[in-house]
Amino acid sequence: MVIAIDGPGGVGKSTVARGVAAALGAAYLNTGLYYRAATIAALEGGADLDDAESIAAAVASRRYEFAGEAILLDGHDVTERSRSPEVTAGVSQVSAVPAVRALMVRHQREWVEAHDGRAVVEGRDIGTVVFPDAALKVFLTASAEARARRRAGDREAAGQDVDAIAEALRRRDHIDSTREASPLAPADDAVTIDTTSYDADEVIAIVLRMLDAG
Ligand code: C5P
Repeated sequence: MVIAIDGPGGVGKSTVARGVAAALGAAYLNTGLYYRAATIAALEGGADLDDAESIAAAVASRRYEFAGEAILLDGHDVTERSRSPEVTAGVSQVSAVPAVRALMVRHQREWVEAHDGRAVVEGRDIGTVVFPDAALKVFLTASAEARARRRAGDREAAGQDVDAIAEALRRRDHIDSTREASPLAPADDAVTIDTTSYDADEVIAIVLRMLDAG
């Protein structure tokens, strides 16, 4: 059974997906980390981020593995680095390349299969493309202010100005929502939850109630 948790940055996807997975005893997969590792590969490979072919070549030449909550690039843990401002600034351009998406979607499906098909998977296109038959599809939203505030509280954003975070989120959401290949959008059969006035535990409880009722 797959549960898809999609939505833009800063809505609390990771906290909610992790909490739901723990409550169900299911595996938890953060698909954004694959695209972040791909961005490191593109940057290290000297790819021109405006050129899809050079991105695709640099990304395809490396090995990706999600283990625990870490992303490994050629066997090295790059999780911490994958959340740096430099990687965050480039990730939407890299993840818009269809060949990159095809490769990462394949990894994500294989990972879930290796976990007996029981996983809570968070991302942007999980309910629409990666697992269109998911048992439950949740799309999280929140006001721009709430999202920027939450991101500012994340460890990797420590010291960054809230306005700069809000601007970076806006830019990333815009590219993610308007790209041609699997844009960020709720699936037709997704349940949308506006998390602006809820804390993570409340959202986790709502999702678990939906599963009970389902
Ligand atoms: O979830 P996170 O913010 O770490 O995702 C980083 C970026 O990876 C997103 O802004 C998006 O460009 C890309 N992404 C994607 N599809 C997913 C997950 C993430 O395109 N399923």
